[in-house]
Formats: sequence, C-alpha cells, structure tokens
Amino acid sequence: MKTFCGRANPTTGAMEWLEEDENYDYHQEIARSRYADMLHDKDRNVKYYQGIRAAVSRVKERGEKAIVLDIGTGTGLLSMMAASAGADFCYAVEVFKPMANAAVKIVEKNGFRDKIKVINKHSTEVTVGPDGDMQCRANILVTELFDTELIGEGALPTYEHAHKYLVQEGCEAVPHRATVYVQLVESKRMWSWNKLFPVHVEAEDGEKIIVSPSEMENCPGVPSVCDIQLNQMSSSDFTILSDVVTMFSVDFSKPVRSASTYYRVQLEPVKSGKAQIVLSWWDIDMDPSGMINCTMAPYWVKSTSAFQWRDHWMQCVYFLPNEEPVLQGEKLHLTACRDEYSVWYKLQKARGEEENKADVRVESPVCRCQAHLLWNRPRFGELNDQNRTRQYIKSLTKVLKTDSVCLCISDGSLLPVLAHYLGAKQVQ
Ligand code: SAH
Repeated sequence: MKTFCGRANPTTGAMEWLEEDENYDYHQEIARSRYADMLHDKDRNVKYYQGIRAAVSRVKERGEKAIVLDIGTGTGLLSMMAASAGADFCYAVEVFKPMANAAVKIVEKNGFRDKIKVINKHSTEVTVGPDGDMQCRANILVTELFDTELIGEGALPTYEHAHKYLVQEGCEAVPHRATVYVQLVESKRMWSWNKLFPVHVEAEDGEKIIVSPSEMENCPGVPSVCDIQLNQMSSSDFTILSDVVTMFSVDFSKPVRSASTYYRVQLEPVKSGKAQIVLSWWDIDMDPSGMINCTMAPYWVKSTSAFQWRDHWMQCVYFLPNEEPVLQGEKLHLTACRDEYSVWYKLQKARGEEENKADVRVESPVCRCQAHLLWNRPRFGELNDQNRTRQYIKSLTKVLKTDSVCLCISDGSLLPVLAHYLGAKQVQ
C-alpha cells in the first residue's frame, strides 16, 4: 500500500503530494496533517455530533426520511455521525481521491456500508436522479469546508451550488450559520508584518534614515489571509481600539450567494489611537437556536475557561490599507469586502451615506510595490526587527572600509542598502 503525503516544496512554498511506500514512517505526517488536527478537535467533533443529532431529529419529527449530503467528507466522520444519529441515507462527497478511498474503507470497517455512499467527486460534479450519484436531493446538508478565514476553502460557491442542485428547499444545515466578528486594534508588532518601517543607520557622518518608497507606503498588500494563533499574542503587543463587532453572518440552510459583495458596520473607538489592524474570527452555530456554538474567539473575548487547542482554525489579522488615527467616540465605518474566497477591510470616517457608498472598492487588494510578492509576512517582521538590523550594522561597521567593494548574494535583503549607507565604495 502506498500513502500520499503532503510536503511543502522548499523552493516554491507550495504544498505537493508525494507517494510514499508502505515502510515509510508516517507518524510525523499524521502529526502534521490538518486532517489529524481536525479529528483531534474534540470541541468541534462534539458540537458537530450534537448539531447532526438535532437536525436528524427535526427531520424525523416532521415524518420525513433523513437524507444527508456531507460535502467534503474526508474520513467520512460526519456521515458516520449522521448514520449513528439515525439518518436513513448519507451521500458522502469527497473530491480528493486518496481521502475518498480512505473514507470507503473507514465507512466499511465501521459497519456503515449500507447507509453511506462515498462519491469521489467535487460536489459541483455530483448528479441527482434515478441514474445519478444521488437518487434524490438531500434534506440535511452537512459540511466542514471552513478555513481560518471561513470562506477561503471555497465554502460559498460550494453552498451556492448545493442549494441550487443538490438539496431540498427548506433543508436543515449543520452548521446552520456562521458569524464573522471583528475588532479594531493598534499593534506595532502586527503592523510590522505588512509595511517596511524606516531604518535608522548610525554612520560615521551622523544618523541616516532609510525610508521605503511611497508606492510601498501606499500599497494595499496581498489578499492572502494572515492567520495566526491570537491566543499566543501577548496583550502587551496590541491595544484594543473597539469593541468586538459582528461583521456578517451566513445562513447555510438558505440559498447562499457567493458573488463579491461588502458589509459595513458603524464603530465608535473605545480608545484613541492608530487604527492599523482588524482582528477577526468566526463562530458556527450548529443549530438554528444557537445553543450549540463552536467559537474561535480569542482569550480576551471568550467567557469560558475551556480552551481547545487547534491549528486548523486560528484567527485572522487583516492590515488596513493605511494606518488611520482615530479618536475615542468618533463615528467610523468599517467595511468588509469579499469575493468568493477572501475578505479584506477598509476603515473610513463616517460621512454622508452616499459619499461612503461611492467609495467602496470591491476589488481585492493587489500588491503594486512588488515587496509583498517578494517578502512574506514573517520576512517583513524580520526586516523590521530593529535589534536584528542593529546587529547587522554592527558587524558591517566592523568590516567595511571606505574602499570596500561589496557583493551581496541575497534576495530582498537590507544588507546592500546598509552597506551603501555605511560608506562602502561600491555595492553589487
Ligand atoms: N468532513 C471531514 C473533513 C473536512 S476537511 C471532517 O469534518 O472531519 C474538508 C474536505 O472537503 C477535504 O477533504 C476536501 O478535499 C473536501 N472538499 C472541499 N470542497 C469540496 C467540494 N466542493 N466537493 C467535494 N469535496 C470537497
């Protein structure tokens, strides 16, 4: 038996799938894999199970057969939960072939062969009808297609399609609803992951300041989400400027629209400061009443002390296009724009509604300065690390002479600029 293992390509950074033979020790792979992390997320699993049981009961109470569609079944876990909860039949759709093959085996081993059909397709390819993949439309839609940004794994287009073609009108959905929350903060630390700060160089002929060009200062950056464990961020690393605000919700039991749109909320800062970052996370309600809630809220927001460690869902850091001084109590508008796969934010002083509306930019941010394409967020942070730069300056000062000719073999490093400012004769 061969195993597919995901591996980050060190050159491109992209994930690739490699086939490993049966003697390969894949304990490390399992430890690293997101599937394992999801499967060990007890809080998530328990709540999905509660939500699925409740949905199956509601359908049964109406005297209907419970027909489940589980999109992105992975190991088959949620379908097996549904079958255990008394569902009459489950269609378990999984696009990734090695995973679908695994699901077939797992389903069989757990004795659910008669209740669960694994379909190795993308959900948008699934057919319904007497000769189709599904005999009829489902009346319970179960999915777990969410990333830290909620929509980054394509949940919206998948739901949009499923409601049009694969499930009945008025179906039950687990989760029933997702809500995205935001909080405005000032944080030099986080801001340093997106903008290049001025670099102070103490040269023999006095202090010099290297500043980045204005295209870089005004660049909107890249749309890829910056996901981190906010629970590991010390409260001294940021200043809260606003309360937590609900940005938008998606009801998964109703038709979903994936087309680009925007949501706007009014904010009044609780403190004056420099608005730089929008922190964001989401929660999912497994049932319509909201009693079964699975939340990614960070430690300063969450009321419960029970804390579930998870890497597959973290929290998002969004960089505002520019830092904006804000005053306590003034009226601000925060706009979340989204396309099918990503979200980005914009902050404005509240003006006339018409004026604000005219100003909404729904296109996703595109880096104009090239730096965001060259450097990832940790690299920005590294370049902004003053202590690190100081060490480089100290070492360079030791070796540089006025007739030094420097050759820099590096990509996007500050070293050649530092060498020039420190008086090297020539830098290449
Ligand atoms: N339901 C499982 C696994 C969730 S991971 C669990 O909760 O443990 C999400 C899975 O969905 C991945 O295996 C991915 O390959 C699959 N997937 C995502 N979008 C899909 C789609 N539109 N159709 C079919 N499979 C999809």
